[in-house]
Amino acid sequence: PELPGRRPQSPAPPSPRQLSGIPAAAGIALGPLLKLRSAAPLAPRAGRDPEEERQRLRIAIEAAQAETRTLYEWSQTHLGVDSAGVFDAQLLFLEDPGLLAAVERRLAVERAGAETAWQAETTAFAGRLGALDDPYLSARAADVTDVAERVLRRLTGQTGAAALRQPAILTAHDLTPSEVASLDPALALGVCLETGSASAHSVILARARGIPVVAGLGPALSALADGTLAAMDGEQGVVWIAPGAAQAHSLAERREGWLAARRAAERERAKPAATRDGRPIRVLANISGVAEAAEAVDSGAQGVGVLRTEFLFLARAAAPGEEEQLAAYRAITESLGGRPLTIRALDAGGDKRVPYIDTGEEANPFLGWRGIRVLLSRRDLFRTQLRAILRAGAGRAVELLLPMIASLDELRAAKALLGEAEAELGREGLPFRRGMPIGVMIEVPAAVAIAGPLAREAAFFSIGSNDLIQYTMAADRTNSRVAPLADPFDPAVLRMIRQTVEAGRDAGIGVTLCGELAADPAAAPLLLGLGIEEFSLSAPLIPELKRALAAWSTAEAADVAREALALESAAAVRRLLQEAGGRFRGPNPEPRTGP
Ligand code: PEP
Ligand code: MG
Repeated sequence: PELPGRRPQSPAPPSPRQLSGIPAAAGIALGPLLKLRSAAPLAPRAGRDPEEERQRLRIAIEAAQAETRTLYEWSQTHLGVDSAGVFDAQLLFLEDPGLLAAVERRLAVERAGAETAWQAETTAFAGRLGALDDPYLSARAADVTDVAERVLRRLTGQTGAAALRQPAILTAHDLTPSEVASLDPALALGVCLETGSASAHSVILARARGIPVVAGLGPALSALADGTLAAMDGEQGVVWIAPGAAQAHSLAERREGWLAARRAAERERAKPAATRDGRPIRVLANISGVAEAAEAVDSGAQGVGVLRTEFLFLARAAAPGEEEQLAAYRAITESLGGRPLTIRALDAGGDKRVPYIDTGEEANPFLGWRGIRVLLSRRDLFRTQLRAILRAGAGRAVELLLPMIASLDELRAAKALLGEAEAELGREGLPFRRGMPIGVMIEVPAAVAIAGPLAREAAFFSIGSNDLIQYTMAADRTNSRVAPLADPFDPAVLRMIRQTVEAGRDAGIGVTLCGELAADPAAAPLLLGLGIEEFSLSAPLIPELKRALAAWSTAEAADVAREALALESAAAVRRLLQEAGGRFRGPNPEPRTGP
């Protein structure tokens, strides 16, 4: 039988010499192609001893559980709670009593082999999920397939990416976060995908691990035989099949340049960030857990710009209490060794479902009960969190950040609740940070429209470009069909950022950019030129951002931003950024150090 998700192989047509796809993760790779999932058919096992098969299955499931738990922790540390939630749901699936009973029935009644029984039941389960009307649930079918395959690989000994023994460029229809997490970056030179987009979680993870990716290459990819020599450029989104000697040589040189640039960035990571003309820029980390705080410091972060507190609230049956939250926040401030910490209040809702916060059925979860809206109506939760944050701030540089603000009333209501929590703590004689700065996430176009008045009442702004883009362009950040619309370089988005920066500047408050856009080195001159002086991004990408910042002077960046704001499309802005990179920095990607 076919493994779920496997596509039939068509006879190989003459291979095109060049394929174009979506630039998804920068970097150059050259090497033989290798299909990520081996197409070897399962050896049917029948007439087996049910008890023996039950044992084999139990061992495989336990191994898959351990692997899934590792993936959960790994992605919670490196990607944040949103991504880790996938693995949490997968763990629940592996314990599903109905599924396990159905598989055991097959073992006993049909005397089927464990792989056959497991595959039949999990494929049926994924099929039922996929057929549901609810888009959230039907999207979970892929997660079920992912974890079911993890068990199957244990049973069959087929290890997918783990079978990678020598360096290769991996090809696949699509890729799951767990597959990316299990890749060895020394062997996985790059990844080429038939589908996918630059903002898929698996691709974000590949980017964080330094693995170049070209996505959306289409079905031509599956026709290429394993072992075919190829080269790829993840920044341009191009794959060359069997490149000629001269082309391979020049690509190999570019790969060396890319690797050298990464090594240089690693070495420079501890230096404070500055533009080429010496203007200091603050570079902070987005984190979502205690372990990540130390990693942030290691990567050269000057503090934490966003602590996504969701990590404390997801994957459990009840909200964490004040003491538990306090302990977590304190542990993070300890790891930061005096560096500032901005704690974002719980941003539940949208694609972050918290089991004990019942959002009910929502036709549009991203336009629904999310962020500050939840906090202001679940005051029990908010009050507990505010108290924990205030207490964690005693004698520490801790600030509070509010998610999804769309009106002045919301900011004022949150401030009033903070005031009440302060008064309570005062009466109880507990130490806390007085006058804690309250920042506002700028994620909703309404907040940009009232950025002036908001800036007079907020201590700082943090632009959440992930959400600001989706709401500005009205393009759901989880819907790949509208993903091309949600382009960070769209003129509408650039105007939103500029307007926010200007309002912040007029009011004399700081403006941080904390969405994924902050992690794109190509965007650095544009953002600098738009007036962003503080960036917050996932820790592994910090060295490269510092390097990109050091390559630009304030005046050059201002020119780039001015030109970009006069353009009419995201594509034109991208062309400008590419061209400006060459114009100001020359063809050599080495950074200019010193003025
Ligand atoms: C954002 O929206 O850009 C952001 C940083 O918040 P999150 O990705 O957690 O929604
Ligand atoms: Mg957001």
